[in-house]
Amino acid sequence: MNKGLVIRTTGSWYRVLCGEEELDCRLRGNYRLRGSKQTNPIAVGDWVLWERQEDGTGLIHEVSDRRNYLIRKATKLSKQTHVIAANIDLLCIVACLEHPRTSQGFIDRLLVTAEAYNIPACIIFNKCDLYDVELEERHRRMAQVFAHAGYEVLKVSAQQGTGVEDLKQHLVGKTVLFSGHSGVGKSALLNAIDPTLQLRTGEVSEWSQKGTHTTTFAEIVRCTLAPGVYSHLIDSPGIKEFGMVDFKEGELSHFFPEMKRLLQGCKFANCTHRHEPGCAIKEALDRGEVSPERYASYLSMMEELQEESGF
Ligand code: GDP
Ligand code: ZN
Repeated sequence: MNKGLVIRTTGSWYRVLCGEEELDCRLRGNYRLRGSKQTNPIAVGDWVLWERQEDGTGLIHEVSDRRNYLIRKATKLSKQTHVIAANIDLLCIVACLEHPRTSQGFIDRLLVTAEAYNIPACIIFNKCDLYDVELEERHRRMAQVFAHAGYEVLKVSAQQGTGVEDLKQHLVGKTVLFSGHSGVGKSALLNAIDPTLQLRTGEVSEWSQKGTHTTTFAEIVRCTLAPGVYSHLIDSPGIKEFGMVDFKEGELSHFFPEMKRLLQGCKFANCTHRHEPGCAIKEALDRGEVSPERYASYLSMMEELQEESGF
């Protein structure tokens, strides 16, 4: 049996990278689905055991246990879930202040999910070549908020190459998932990191007139950012809204690192950090140690969770 890395999935076929070889594989017919709620049994980043068939394609027998994975709701109101990618060393949230604008809440939802699923994350603000004085100031403020919460923030321009060398240093030898709204420049950024990739950017796909972008499935590309070391970069389809999966209200604050540190200080063990007396998080908010922006995201996610649980 051979071991390989799933680099692309399209319907019932899986493209598997095995050493220097790539081949198309199918999944064994009687393979039991991990969780019936998941729409995809295998995601890019999965390691699989496969066997060659007579026709030259492969048959996948086993999917190795995942170190971690990023999961979202298949659609906004869906009970089904979709695994975007598995075995991720770093999640790069690609954001823009404008064209298109990425909201604080969108980034925070991704960050919280990354915390919950044990994925280190950083935020990359792309298109800094478009900044004027006002956008510079907005960038400074947002970067400060995320840095204070414990996240690395990078400022880049895929178009002009600004900050790309610095970004590369963060990616050497890693499997890195790039995620964000459609149009923020994920493909352009990957091209800037490795110009040999030649991913298509900003194009409307020919088979659909709806303006969907060319990337419709997540895909892993391999590149060499330091001599003799492979990095696996994952370009994923743009996400409009990130639907969080399986969170309990009581746990939410654990996934805000700057709040988690303070939880011991709340008077009530089941404190929701909203209106309870003796709340360490609200006190930290008053002192400016928890940012109002992150706290607002926390409240909005709490509300969402309560709506879902039928309150
Ligand atoms: P994706 O949907 O996230 O993969 O975004 P694309 O890589 O396709 O880029 C979307 C559009 O933004 C394209 O028209 C790019 O040329 C443009 N773009 C990407 N990066 C930059 C940048 O750093 N500065 C500017 N001004 N435009 C950019
Ligand atoms: Zn509290």
